[in-house]
Amino acid sequence: MKLLGTSFDCADHGGHSHRWAFLQLETDEGLTGVGEWSCSLGGIALVAKTLQLLRADLVGEDANDIERLWHKMYRHYFSLGPRGVVTAAISSVDIALWDIKGKALNRPVYDLLGGRVRDRVLLYSHPQAGTPEEVAEDSVKQVAEGWTALKTDPFRSEVRKRMGVGPGFEIRYMEGALSAEAEETAEAVVRAMREAVGPKIEILIDAHGNFNVPTAVRLARRLTPYKLTWFEEPCPPESFDALRQIRESVEVPICVGERLFTRFDFVPIFRDRLADYIMPDVVLTGGISELKKIATMAESYYIPVSPHNPPGGPVQVTAAAHVMMTVPNFYRQEFARNYLDAHNSVITPALDIRNGCLFLSNRPGLGVELDTDFIKAHPDPDWC
Ligand code: MG
Repeated sequence: MKLLGTSFDCADHGGHSHRWAFLQLETDEGLTGVGEWSCSLGGIALVAKTLQLLRADLVGEDANDIERLWHKMYRHYFSLGPRGVVTAAISSVDIALWDIKGKALNRPVYDLLGGRVRDRVLLYSHPQAGTPEEVAEDSVKQVAEGWTALKTDPFRSEVRKRMGVGPGFEIRYMEGALSAEAEETAEAVVRAMREAVGPKIEILIDAHGNFNVPTAVRLARRLTPYKLTWFEEPCPPESFDALRQIRESVEVPICVGERLFTRFDFVPIFRDRLADYIMPDVVLTGGISELKKIATMAESYYIPVSPHNPPGGPVQVTAAAHVMMTVPNFYRQEFARNYLDAHNSVITPALDIRNGCLFLSNRPGLGVELDTDFIKAHPDPDWC
């Protein structure tokens, strides 16, 4: 098992740094599978350490036994609980094992998951953050390229300011409130987007789990006239009771799931009707195996699935897309269009994206290989 991390600046996206983490699993038959566990801030280093510990569980095992190895890794941590850091580590191994199985059988991963129900994966993108005018301008540009759904967080600038963190950091919950001025600005952003792209383009709003119940309810009600497809993570992910209270108070559709781990975390979402859409993350929730299972659970509740991409790297994008090629109850997959060049700098061949859709090839496995020369030339300074 080789762990590869990369960090590099992306000039076309405001100079943001990419911090992506990849894994390569090698078999004694000469096959190599690729996985990914990109996540925010210190999470990458924690997962890297966990993967080094999991190595002992994997060396000498039969790479064909994906389901058994998933359970072996998951049940290894029964005292502290395996969700979060450990499921991120498991995810990257699981994705690499599916890549290996596809290469061994000379079939794309989607064939091994039941075969295709579609020939392309519909995506949604993110307009560049900024003033209402800047967001509207980039939205128009993306619509002209063929994108038909756009997501933004119109609240982020004040939340980041309050937390004293810069644009390269995750925003985090503290008191869960928002000033009247920031609320006004957020509505101005959404209004500018809607006026710029017209009524047919879908607009999704991400609250990043930053708000307390009254704030989330007030914001959702205020933005409802702009015909939102969904209002994402209105409150932090730990309290399903808070989510229920918000859901019962607003009309706008709700989406959650990027910080829910494994099929077990999704049980209350389905059972208690807490969301209209779910957005599991293939590199956090348990990999290709788990994303397929969660999607099938959602299918039985007629809930659409929309894989999350924060943006993680291209292995994450490709792994989730292979699953969505086989999932009937698919909405769209998240993809940050402004990171496309960055994605293509770490893999071969380039992602095939046209008119807001991702097309997968019929190459065996995931169909993408890491450019290890590029990645090694841009190591992540915090843990490599
Ligand atoms: Mg989100």
